[in-house]
Amino acid sequence: MNMELPRGVQDILPEDIPYWQLVENTARKLFESYNYEEIRTPIFEYTELFRKGTGETTDIVMKEMYTFTDKKGRSLTLRPEGTPGVIRAFLTNKIYNQKPVWKVYYIGPMFRYERPQAGRYRQFHQLGIEVLGRKDPYIDFEVIKLAVDLLKNLKLENLEVEINSLGCIKCRPNYREALISYFRKYEDQLSPIDKERLERNPLRLLDSKDEKLIALKDQAPQPIDYLCDECKIHFEKVQKYLSLDNIKYKLNPKLVRGLDYYTRTVFEITTTTLGSQNAVVGGGRYDNLVETYGGPSIPGLGFALGIERLIILLKQQNHISLPYIPLIFITLSEDYVETGIKLANILRTKYRVDIGSPQENLRTQLKWADKLGSFIVIFLTEEIEKNKLKIKNFKTGEEKYTDLNFNTILEDIETML
Ligand code: ATP
Ligand code: MG
Repeated sequence: MNMELPRGVQDILPEDIPYWQLVENTARKLFESYNYEEIRTPIFEYTELFRKGTGETTDIVMKEMYTFTDKKGRSLTLRPEGTPGVIRAFLTNKIYNQKPVWKVYYIGPMFRYERPQAGRYRQFHQLGIEVLGRKDPYIDFEVIKLAVDLLKNLKLENLEVEINSLGCIKCRPNYREALISYFRKYEDQLSPIDKERLERNPLRLLDSKDEKLIALKDQAPQPIDYLCDECKIHFEKVQKYLSLDNIKYKLNPKLVRGLDYYTRTVFEITTTTLGSQNAVVGGGRYDNLVETYGGPSIPGLGFALGIERLIILLKQQNHISLPYIPLIFITLSEDYVETGIKLANILRTKYRVDIGSPQENLRTQLKWADKLGSFIVIFLTEEIEKNKLKIKNFKTGEEKYTDLNFNTILEDIETML
């Protein structure tokens, strides 16, 4: 039997869980303070959902999806990103009839058949938000601000926010024309896949990872020079709000993002310390996606953050203190087990508590406590009969006899940590 893991997937072991919980809890608290609610959509959906939404000409749909046929011959796909499922849920549940604006967040696994490397996996996790039903530039600002604040609350440094505007269905056709006539001149240098993109969706060429295209992309026309007046004003307001809230950003006219549905504002947050997998957050506005799915004309926007990459950064920057100090009871006789259970009930309101076996001797139990990473040990010995309890901090060597008093025991432990 093959016990190896498939390429690009990994276990998240208990020693890393405190990082995951820290990220998830920080995100939940922040998003909820901005009135976002959590949503959990299915891990697999009909393939069509991603083809139509994420886009036929994107790398994700062309090369990276985990698609399979079920027993009835239906084509299903493990979700490569979160947005299509959220929009589908919005339509399936007719949320548009109930709420003028829907603000949600999600946390969960995504699947892409990519070349695994540091910071790039085949199963990875994203945490994201989506807002449906607001077209004003304030909300573009709010979405960018939430991504920035989440990273700030996690005390991350060396991050750069880049923004751009891709225009709307009104101005995009002019830009598309300009792009096509530019790249037509170099058609013989394009790979077959990029030739197809030139016909179907020339904007994708700007996102191509093909080496040969790098110099060509540099000289290509930029969407920002083709914006209509409404798009210009919208983008100016987004920048104004960012500035007045002191959020530093860089205008990057070359930023296009890898998904087809974006309109107007797009943004990315990158770091200088992750090598080539340097993007931590990506997002933007998608004013036509709900309609593309056959729904009403409702604008949307959001972002997605890669949790694995974020945790690599947290570990690099290493100034997060993780709450993990188990308290261990050492029980030297069956007679003291009852006191141990009762004391542990109280201490568990605040700490992780584990109780040793009275069948083991002192040395074995101390070794066990050490292996579990605990340095605070509470001894249940004959002192109990004198209403005393010995507590020892093995890190500092401090030793204390406290009164066996259920009301003050929590405070006594506190002073030893
Ligand atoms: P990249 O340019 O690195 O491929 P992307 O543009 O494909 O990123 P998005 O689809 O915007 O990424 O997803 C948002 C975030 O999810 C990324 O910024 C990144 O942090 C994370 N992410 C994307 N793909 C992977 C992956 N295969 N493994 C781990 N994290 C990923
Ligand atoms: Mg990618």
